[in-house]
Amino acid sequence: MKCFSCGNSNQSQVEDLYGYPVCESCKPSLGLYKDHTIRKHITDFEKKRESVPENPTYAQEVDFRVNAMEERYIRSRLQLLHIQARVKELAED
Ligand SMILES: [Zn+2]
Repeated sequence: MKCFSCGNSNQSQVEDLYGYPVCESCKPSLGLYKDHTIRKHITDFEKKRESVPENPTYAQEVDFRVNAMEERYIRSRLQLLHIQARVKELAED
């Protein structure tokens, strides 16, 4: 397993973080929130939601964002893969 960011392959320093290999030096650079920050976000979000209870919960909103980001990621990657394939093909002309 190689760190996705720096390529560190020292297995004692690389962990699987939600399916992505990350080393202990790169992990702090990810800006992962501490629990107290996440609790504050939940509280703030739910406070705003009191006036519109039909709106998604914080957990639902996060799920939505993860899915939307995945779709954007796939779209961007497909555009680049298409360019990559076309560049190779066009170079053969
Ligand atoms: Zn790393």
